[in-house]
Amino acid sequence: MIPLSVPNLDGNEWKYVKDCLDTNWVSSVGSYVNRFEEMIAEYTGAKYAIAIANGTSALHISLMLAGVVRNDLVIVPNITFIASVNAITYCGANPVLMDVKGDSWQMDLDLLEEFLAEQTSLVEGKCVHKASGRIIRTIMPVHVLGNMCDMERLRDLALTYGLNIVEDSTEALGSFYKGKSAGTFGLLGTFSFNGNKIISTGGGGMVVTNDDVLGKKAKHLTTQAKADPLEYYHDEIGYNYRLVNILAAMGVAQMEQLPGFVKRKHEISSLYNERLAGLEGVAGQQMGEHVEANHWLYTATFPQQRDLLHYLIDSGVQARPFWVPMNQLPMFREQLYFTKEDISDKVYKSCISLPCSTSISDEEIITVTDLVRNFYHKK
Ligand SMILES: *Cc1c(COP(=O)(O)O)cnc(C)c1O
Repeated sequence: MIPLSVPNLDGNEWKYVKDCLDTNWVSSVGSYVNRFEEMIAEYTGAKYAIAIANGTSALHISLMLAGVVRNDLVIVPNITFIASVNAITYCGANPVLMDVKGDSWQMDLDLLEEFLAEQTSLVEGKCVHKASGRIIRTIMPVHVLGNMCDMERLRDLALTYGLNIVEDSTEALGSFYKGKSAGTFGLLGTFSFNGNKIISTGGGGMVVTNDDVLGKKAKHLTTQAKADPLEYYHDEIGYNYRLVNILAAMGVAQMEQLPGFVKRKHEISSLYNERLAGLEGVAGQQMGEHVEANHWLYTATFPQQRDLLHYLIDSGVQARPFWVPMNQLPMFREQLYFTKEDISDKVYKSCISLPCSTSISDEEIITVTDLVRNFYHKK
């Protein structure tokens, strides 16, 4: 079987994890946690990086820090992984689902602008949804597959309409817009080091921010909000969301290899595009202008998507469908969904992700693309 996207542990992972075990520094304090945070801060250019248990908890904490409270609304694209919207509900807030663009699969900013202009008004500096009277506190762009929307336009819209930005940049470590790292455009950004992400610690995440108060508060909240070095005095309800040293040790080893991983992801994406060229109706993701994407997970639109998907799986290729759009899930069916043509459904019904681990060989990619060609030519 050719796997979809598996970790690549060819660096110093063993050495650093062994060091944790040898020195007994296995838990939530240790030098690798600090080093991992420094490396992410340095790579992204963020002032603060706070290691955290996973990407989902990074989103939860970031939304809380952005001030999202019960009954607020948060704007989020309708095509995303479930964790983005779940995190909104953890704060007691509800999503406003925004349809996406058919070529980039990112939030449609024309639609967003129309929604903000028609359905909200600025009351004492706050963005209020007119029909419900609820406050829209935050907009959460999701950098789907490492691509980004027009981040300058998004920032202008957020400023004009009184919103702050929390980036779900969990898939976008290694992606840049006009040379600026994903995760550093809003008040807070988030990363995930889940098993299939571009770097992996098995499970893990990071919050990044340039804000001094929020940077310190993020660390405080993720470590049970203990306010005294000696006394067990906690000054608010905190969380046990800290990343442990063993996993951070893996993170340090993975960060050492990130530039190589990004380079390989680019090559994989180019080879797929080259080998799939000329097939009617087959199109890779359209990358945004000024975006240097990390090409995290190679995905394209295909005619007869379901048949091809099963054909590939039956042939030993771990191909995967795209996420079911959020508005089609039972928990979110009743939520506000702003759309004209339900592009989300079209994207869902045409996209397939193909194997693209950094360790995949060119021969394996050619095996996959030959299978795809074979599928269409048999017909
Ligand atoms: C991976 C991912 C997350 C969640 O990260 P975990 O580390 O798995 O909790 C959130 N949003 C998106 C878009 C993701 O791809």
